[in-house]
Amino acid sequence: MRSEYKLIFERSREGRRAYDLPECDAPDAMNEIPAELKANAPLRLPEIAEIDLVRHYTNLSRRNFGVDNGFYPLGSCTMKYNPKINEELAPLFDNVHPLLDAEMSQGCLALMKDMEDMLCEICGMDAFTLQPAAGAHGELTGLMHIRAYHEHRGDFERKTIIVPDAAHGTNPASAAMAGFKVKEIKSAPDGGVDLDALRAAVGPDTAGLMLTNPSTLGLFERNIKEIAKIVHEAGGLLYYDGANLNAIMGIVRPGDMGFDVMHINLHKTFSTPHGGGGPGSGPVGVKSHLIPFMPVPRIEEDEDGQTYYLNYDKPESIGKIKSFYGNFGVIVKAFCYIRSLGAEGLKEASENAVLNANYVMNKLRGIYEIPHDRTCMHECVVTPGELMQYGVNTSDIAKALIDRGYHPPTIYFPLIVHEAMMIEPTESESRETLDEFVDAMKGIAEQVKTDAAAIHAAPVTTPVGRPDEVTAARKPVVKFED
Ligand SMILES: *Cc1c(COP(=O)(O)O)cnc(C)c1O
Repeated sequence: MRSEYKLIFERSREGRRAYDLPECDAPDAMNEIPAELKANAPLRLPEIAEIDLVRHYTNLSRRNFGVDNGFYPLGSCTMKYNPKINEELAPLFDNVHPLLDAEMSQGCLALMKDMEDMLCEICGMDAFTLQPAAGAHGELTGLMHIRAYHEHRGDFERKTIIVPDAAHGTNPASAAMAGFKVKEIKSAPDGGVDLDALRAAVGPDTAGLMLTNPSTLGLFERNIKEIAKIVHEAGGLLYYDGANLNAIMGIVRPGDMGFDVMHINLHKTFSTPHGGGGPGSGPVGVKSHLIPFMPVPRIEEDEDGQTYYLNYDKPESIGKIKSFYGNFGVIVKAFCYIRSLGAEGLKEASENAVLNANYVMNKLRGIYEIPHDRTCMHECVVTPGELMQYGVNTSDIAKALIDRGYHPPTIYFPLIVHEAMMIEPTESESRETLDEFVDAMKGIAEQVKTDAAAIHAAPVTTPVGRPDEVTAARKPVVKFED
C-alpha cells in the first residue's frame, strides 16, 4: 500500500518521536498516584517522526471532499457554496450565554424576531418558530401542530397523513414518529400527485397531506390548487416540505398556495455548511389558525415596542421541542445571507439554481435518459438508460465520477425512479464548472461503450475502492486492529 494511505498506527516505529524536550527536572507526579490506579501497560500510541506526522495529517486533510474544493452536486442536499462572510459573522455572538436573561440578550432576540418576520415574508406564512434543529425535526414539529389543531376542535378521528411517493423519505418517517398512520399515494405518469388517487385516499380520518415541493423528482407540482382544495374539503391540513426552498424563493410562496404549515431548511437554502450531521435548523411556519399551538417560548415585543421578551404563557402550545431557542449560530448565518442578498438577490439565487439544473439536464439529454422530461426545478433526475446494456449501472457511473474529481450526485433516490441519479448543481456554480461536469459525464458514457471494465474498476484514485456496502454500513471498522 502507498505509504500515504497507511494509518498512523501502521507507520509507527518504536522509539521515533516528533518532539525533543529537555529532561524533566520536576518531581515525578506519577509517584503520587496509588499503584492500583495506574495503567499496567504503556498506552498504545503511535511513535512517529515529525515529518511523517505532518505528512499524515496533511494528506488526510486533502482527502476530504467539500464544496470548498470541488463540485458537489448531491441532489436534495443543496451542497451550495456558503459565503465566508457568514462564517465570519456568526462567531461574533459566541460570548452570549443562552441562559442570560432576555434583557441581557436583546440583540439576539431582535435578530431572531427579524428572522422570523423575514421568513414569514419569504414563505407567505403568518408566524415562524426557529426552534427545530433540522428539516426532519421541523416536520415532526409541524405534524404536532396538525394533531393539536384537530384535537383542539374535538376531532380525534383524524389519524392519517397522506404522503405521495415522490416525497422526501423523512416525510413518512416523521408522520409515523408523530403517531400518525401513513397512507402513500402513487405519482401520476408526469411525476405529479395522482389526483384520482388523492380523492380516493381522503376521508374523515385524514389529518393532512405532506407535499414535498419541488418533489424528489425535481419537479414543481402542477396541481397544487386542486390538491389543496381536495385536502381542505376533506377536513385535512396541508403540510409543505420546503427544505428545497432555493427553487422558489421570491417567485412563489407556500402560504399563497394554501398550505397551513411548512418547514424550511436554513442549512440548505440559507447558507450553512452541512453534511456529516449538523448543526442544522428547520424553522416551521404556520398560518394564523395554528399560531396558538406553536412551541414555547415565543419571542414577543413589549407593549412599548422597544424590548423583546420570551413568552412561555401559551396554554395550547405543543411545548418546547429544542433546548434554548434553536441552533442560534445557524440562524445568524442565515440572517446574514438573507440580508446580504436582499429580496432581489434571493430571487436571483432561485432563478440561477433552476437555470443551472435545466442547463445540466439539457446537456445530458441523449446521453443519459431523463425519466420525466420536462422543465425541472433546482435539480434533475437522470438514469444510465441504454448504457445499462453494457453492464454498468448508476453506482458504476458514480464511482467513475470520483476518479474525475467530482462528488457523485445522489444515487438510487428518488426510490420511484429505477437507477436514479439526482443532480443538484446549485446556484453558486459557474457555467464553466457545469460544462466540465457535463464533459465528465459524457466521457464516462463514452468509456462505458469502449471499455466497460475500466468503469467497473473505478475508483482507482481513492484508498478504498468498492467496499461491500452493506458490511461497511452495518459493521463499520472504525478503529485500528492489528
Ligand atoms: C434534506 C431534506 C429533508 C430533511 O432535512 P434534514 O435537515 O436532513 O433533517 C426533508 N425534506 C427534503 C425535501 C429535504 O431535501
